[in-house]
Amino acid sequence: MIHQGGCHCGRVRFAVEAPSRLKVAECNCSICSKSGFLHLIVPKSQFRLLKGEDALTAYTFNTGVARHYFCSTCGIKSFYVPRSHPDGYSVNVRCLDPGTVESMEIEPFNGREWEGQFPGGRSPGFEGHAGA
Ligand SMILES: [Zn+2]
Repeated sequence: MIHQGGCHCGRVRFAVEAPSRLKVAECNCSICSKSGFLHLIVPKSQFRLLKGEDALTAYTFNTGVARHYFCSTCGIKSFYVPRSHPDGYSVNVRCLDPGTVESMEIEPFNGREWEGQFPGGRSPGFEGHAGA
């Protein structure tokens, strides 16, 4: 099904294709723990930016692989390109509109020790997790 969401001020809006019962990851790395980001990771084909490309600013650090997009008006990071899945997106399920998510199963992810989680440098598939 299609979930919609966006940033706080409404400049950034997106649609994401995912089940109504979501499995999401809560990561303890330096950036995710500070923002409370809950990850729903999808291939690029299941994500569509509806509006707000001009509002997005990218923040990068460490390896620079992850691209942390946030709204330049309200500062909310509603989705980004994760280091574990540079060919996909991680959507912040806290930024989804109410009404389409039936349930959510939260799995902890040890992104603080990222290299140990992904010795190959990234997740092998789309069942995985995020990290910065
Ligand atoms: Zn905004």
